[in-house]
Amino acid sequence: MSQASGKELNFRQSVDLMFNRAASFTDISPKLIEKIRVCNATYTVRFGVKLRGEVHTFTGYRSVHSEHKEPVKGGIRYSLDVNQDEVEALAALMTYKSALVEVPYGGSKGGLCINPKDWNEEELERITRRFTFELARRDLIHPSLNVPAPDMGTGEREMAWMMDEYRRLNNTNIDAIACVTGKPVHLGGIEGRVEATGRGVQYALQEFFRHDDDKKKAGFRGNLEGKKIIVQGLGNVGYHAAKFLSEEDGAKIIAVSERAGVVRNEKGINIEKLYQHIRSGEDLDKFEGGKVSDPDPEAICAACDILIPAALEGVIHMNNAHNVKAKLIIEAANGPVTAKADKILRDKGVFIIPDMYANAGGVTVSYFEWVKNIGHIRFGRLQRRNQEAKQRLLIEALQAKDIKFSKKFKQEYIDGASELDLVRAGLDDTMRSAYSNIKGALEENPELEDMRTAAFYVAISDIALHYQSIGL
Ligand code: NAD
Repeated sequence: MSQASGKELNFRQSVDLMFNRAASFTDISPKLIEKIRVCNATYTVRFGVKLRGEVHTFTGYRSVHSEHKEPVKGGIRYSLDVNQDEVEALAALMTYKSALVEVPYGGSKGGLCINPKDWNEEELERITRRFTFELARRDLIHPSLNVPAPDMGTGEREMAWMMDEYRRLNNTNIDAIACVTGKPVHLGGIEGRVEATGRGVQYALQEFFRHDDDKKKAGFRGNLEGKKIIVQGLGNVGYHAAKFLSEEDGAKIIAVSERAGVVRNEKGINIEKLYQHIRSGEDLDKFEGGKVSDPDPEAICAACDILIPAALEGVIHMNNAHNVKAKLIIEAANGPVTAKADKILRDKGVFIIPDMYANAGGVTVSYFEWVKNIGHIRFGRLQRRNQEAKQRLLIEALQAKDIKFSKKFKQEYIDGASELDLVRAGLDDTMRSAYSNIKGALEENPELEDMRTAAFYVAISDIALHYQSIGL
């Protein structure tokens, strides 16, 4: 078996290598390229919280990659593996991702070295509030400067605590709730944020299947119906992507690889049932909708049409990339393919839809939430009934001319758009136009060759233009 030469790079080096490859196709000065690439600042915080009768010291990070636009934006991860290199790599990806999908943010990322499962809810709340306090004193959480969101190990609950703590510290700031996104809807969140990243993965795949040339490159015919998919990680992103693709597009999820084991079913796994089973705390072995086996990091190499790594970075590396059998990999997680593996897969002809594009649904809908928060009004509130009244008038006028409509069509046509409808439409539009920008770059510069390099190229060009226009 041939192997990529040399040593595997760490996550940040991998991102830098991919960045440099794309940058080499631009005519931007090397000095400006260097400015765009480097991470502006990383803050390490160590703080103590008294729990279970003794002081526990926690280490957290908030990295700001680029402030060319503010606020800077990026999730907060709770995991024992969090470290400075990882946070910096993720912050860099946030800068490029935001530029690619045209949301007006710089990139940032945070992490706390903690296994959330080691602590009960009350303890986690105290730890999160203290972490928020440490970030807030340094403006590393702030509605106009730095806006965190959920990531691995965090969700609506943690965002609610962070928002509440920030608001208590800044009780005269009318925009205080815009300090984080991914909040519960009743606390200023937005409909569709929880599903957003997985929904974006679905929209990205739908867009891929609208392009015959890309389908041909990857060796596909038809649409998503019946395509065999393997998913790694059935958390927020993996669950929503797998659920929508199987329930709405007719794809078959033939394997789910999780921390506790691997579930396989060639006929297609019922994702909702599996997710509820895992959530209930039942042993995975007891799941009846597929064959369950021990955890296996190589389960992602089994035969399938599409592979969706949706857990963590570096899972496809120089030692297993040769074994990957999927025709298409859509990177729902950040950085699941190392730079070495990327080269092996490209040489093998595997089509890769890169993380920077594929999982941009989260930051896109976070942007909508932030706009809603600083606008202090729910999307659609002013126009929904007005729109309905006009649509009803039209239907009634046509019916008066004896034109007949089914009840279903009439209802669907008349109904004004809800916040969720608008969020999904805005996300779909974002995913389609970013895809088209990537394709446009590839058409103009065929030497870019692949989607990842083209996505980096679009992002780098956009950020460079920003700096050049302000005289840097
Ligand atoms: P999550 O914590 O909700 O889910 C992660 C899932 O992966 C969990 O079910 C976990 O058990 C599983 N997992 C962890 N290690 C595994 C392993 N070695 N093998 C198999 N399964 C494993 O996290 P998430 O929010 O879904 O994030 C997943 C990925 O998506 C991360 O890379 C994150 O940075 C990226 N992402 C998330 C968002 C978001 O909105 N949540 C947005 C953009 C990108």
